Amino acid sequence: MAVATQTKPETTNPMLATTLALFDSAFARLELNEGIAAIMRQPEVELKVNIPIVGDDGRIKTFEGYRVQHSAARGPSKGGIRYHPDVDIEEVRALAMLMTLKCAAVNIPFGGAKGGISCEPSQLSQHELERLTRRFAKMIAPILGGKRDIPAPDMNTNEQTMAWFMDEISSHQGYYSPEITTGKPIILGGSEGRTEATGRGVAIAAVEMMRKQGLPPEDARVVVQGFGNVGSYAANILSEEYGCTIVAVSDITDAIYNPHGLDLAAINEHIKYNRFLNTYGVNGEVDHITNAELLTLDCDVLVPAAIENQITEKNADQIQARIISEGANGPTTFAADAILNDRGIMVVPDILANAGGVIVSYFEWVQDLQFYFWEVEEVREKLHKKMVKSFDEVWHAAQERNLDMRSATYVLAVERVANAIQKRGFVSN
Ligand code: NAD
Repeated sequence: MAVATQTKPETTNPMLATTLALFDSAFARLELNEGIAAIMRQPEVELKVNIPIVGDDGRIKTFEGYRVQHSAARGPSKGGIRYHPDVDIEEVRALAMLMTLKCAAVNIPFGGAKGGISCEPSQLSQHELERLTRRFAKMIAPILGGKRDIPAPDMNTNEQTMAWFMDEISSHQGYYSPEITTGKPIILGGSEGRTEATGRGVAIAAVEMMRKQGLPPEDARVVVQGFGNVGSYAANILSEEYGCTIVAVSDITDAIYNPHGLDLAAINEHIKYNRFLNTYGVNGEVDHITNAELLTLDCDVLVPAAIENQITEKNADQIQARIISEGANGPTTFAADAILNDRGIMVVPDILANAGGVIVSYFEWVQDLQFYFWEVEEVREKLHKKMVKSFDEVWHAAQERNLDMRSATYVLAVERVANAIQKRGFVSN
């Protein structure tokens, strides 16, 4: 059945436009009631709040905050909370929809949500951040809950933010409720293996694709853009556990390259004390290149794990990697994706490759509900199993339907959410 076409652009936000375009093309490949597209293209719930706090100087400051629940069709909605000046309703809508699709792509029983506060966290003291977080939690509490909507950390928020959130909501409810958030400190019901989970998942996705392409991981030369949480774990795990050679890594300050392989142990040690890469390797053991040059280096696997919109129409035809495992959300634009596909580059898309974080968030929620906590080995083993199974399901869907991996991931995810909506009886046949 045809999808209803829109007469004017619904959004000027590129991430929301891309997500809706990918959704529409997946939906058009499925035999579904078109009313379901109308349901899935819009969030179920949107809450905007104006958050007042008293600053350290005694003056009142106000901030805009949002929580968007895109879908709860497959389970409680799940998604991070980000603090950034660019946060607005359209960005939060896009990210909430991506969460619905990500949870469906790896088949965990969650819907999707996202939230955020438009603020510059570096200009707020720790006390101001705590007051802002607690006030925000109190204001959106009516729509949250361990069986309803479960926040997690995202850009510029962390396990401390989630501890304050959990404490505020628990006080509101009158009892300790660790399942209200994920990404908490381990002492408050956080899960072992959560910090490394996204990078580990990105590494597993890359290795699964190497195997499909007949490339032994120990022969693979890997480039990682963004040596932060996701990128550094992906690089270290690919090197230590799979024997890959990491030839280049970068951060916002610099990109470093050695065609014979970087000394990751030395880089880890450097980052621990110096934070940034631009002061590394001053004795000449690495070449200092730009982030743009890094993306087009001669390598087998590229892991973009920094920010969105890095592989574009401008550089997609110069990418030399055979495989891309997307750690960041939205690192490849819609137009660049078509170029990569035409060139036969195998892309494991963000909503599959970087789903390790939400998978272990799901494990954290399960452990919190049971008040029974697993060893890190058990978390890693379960994550590995889930990532490999999800990768295989997408791989088979791609083969059966003659699709690229991104389109196959979207088709599977959209189909799962649509089936849940239909089975729940929101739409009758
Ligand atoms: P992070 O802040 O820990 O690391 C980001 C890294 O990218 C840093 O090294 C930073 O210096 C670098 N960087 C920033 N801007 C850059 C630029 N313009 N050019 C090159 N490098 C740049 O963040 P993270 O948690 O690792 O997240 C990275 C990406 O992964 C984001 O897109 C995020 O949305 C996505 N992601 C993260 C998680 C998670 O669990 N942390 C889960 C899913 C997706």
